[in-house]
Amino acid sequence: MIEIPKLFGTSGIRGKYNEKITLELAINVARSLASYIGGKDHTVIIGRDPRTTGKIIENVMVSALLECGCNVLNLGMVPTPVVGYATLKLKGNAGIMITASHNPSPDNGIKLWNPNGMAYKQDQEREIERLVYEKTFKPVNWSEIGSEYDISWFTNEYLDDLLNIVEINKEKPLKVVVDCANGAGSYLSPILLRKAGCNVVAMNAQPDGFFPGRNPEPSEANLKELKDAVKSIGADVGIAHDGDADRMIAVDEKGNVADFDKLLALISTQFGGNVVTTVDASACIDTCMHKIGGSVIRTPVGDVHVAEAINKHNATFGGEPSGSWLHPDFCMCPDGLLSGLRIIEIIQKKGKLSKLLNDIENYPTIRSKITCENKDKTSIMNKVEAEFSNCFDDIKEITNIDGTRLSFNDGSWVLIRPSGTEPYIRITAEGKTSKHLEKINKISVDFLKSCI
Ligand code: MG
Repeated sequence: MIEIPKLFGTSGIRGKYNEKITLELAINVARSLASYIGGKDHTVIIGRDPRTTGKIIENVMVSALLECGCNVLNLGMVPTPVVGYATLKLKGNAGIMITASHNPSPDNGIKLWNPNGMAYKQDQEREIERLVYEKTFKPVNWSEIGSEYDISWFTNEYLDDLLNIVEINKEKPLKVVVDCANGAGSYLSPILLRKAGCNVVAMNAQPDGFFPGRNPEPSEANLKELKDAVKSIGADVGIAHDGDADRMIAVDEKGNVADFDKLLALISTQFGGNVVTTVDASACIDTCMHKIGGSVIRTPVGDVHVAEAINKHNATFGGEPSGSWLHPDFCMCPDGLLSGLRIIEIIQKKGKLSKLLNDIENYPTIRSKITCENKDKTSIMNKVEAEFSNCFDDIKEITNIDGTRLSFNDGSWVLIRPSGTEPYIRITAEGKTSKHLEKINKISVDFLKSCI
């Protein structure tokens, strides 16, 4: 059997421009997508982040779609969630976002969207890879070439629709600092917050593919200026986006980056019912949800898995500790702008963010990693799946959906999971008490070492 080269990773196709992401690849992905959705007279929505290579990739992809008889609705430079939402609302047959999310400036990438606003699933990505490999495209003749339309006006509709699904009291305006990383959230996120009645100070809010303000990954280390600004201005909250603004990280009024898991627990309780999160998220989410009679569904790491589980379990909300949150009452695409609005909504209704997060139960965590060659990961993980649970006698539940996760009777848990990108197997352990945590971690590390 011929092995078809893999193009898609955990979040679309991503890599260095002119190495992995070439114009030729972009053309072939667009032609394959055209074939996949049925070619002539089908409609594709397209958008891009502000990377220097975004416009030329967009140009060749638009040409390839028109060449195959598709019509193109072009959003221009927009956050990723606008592409997902436009595909849903304007009834596109597919959406394309040209972005490398939080990766550095030399990178770019391509992410594809379904008519329901959800990212392409793995089986759809395999199908696109097959079409790219086989190159059986169907260009149309000169009289059937598709048309391209500018739909940059749609961003206003997106903002209005967002404001319609939240309840924000304009009489009690919050002071907000928003850091857009010079990414795709520049312009729109500050405009949205102002439309919501907030007093907004915007940082790094002019789009620039060199990301001169800060690294587009919204990690604690990259948010020093935002933290300082929140404190010195006396803001109620700071909001940071990644390069394509599908993620949101919050800074509390004291200038501390909000604990990712606790923030996820806080937002989850606003929805109730079933919520979805990934295997690596903290048990504080379960504790908070159980208190209000809700439940937590766990999925493998990755926003597509979260989206699929939301559909399957009719969940009210889904999110990853990375700050990628899905709001199914709006669209099945992670949306950092809406996530920001929802934090504003909570603070307005319930008070200071630091206090709200402080009220959430704290579970001490230890993260360890053990070096393991990529080629050995499968056999070692098979052994982990078969034998790891024998190390303990107080296990409540064993989950093998993405690595092996054991949860214990007191709410503590441990996850052994291979890194998708680096030569490591990672152990994440979270304990109800520090003593139990240390015990779990030691047993787990010793067990994994014995496997390698
Ligand atoms: Mg992103």
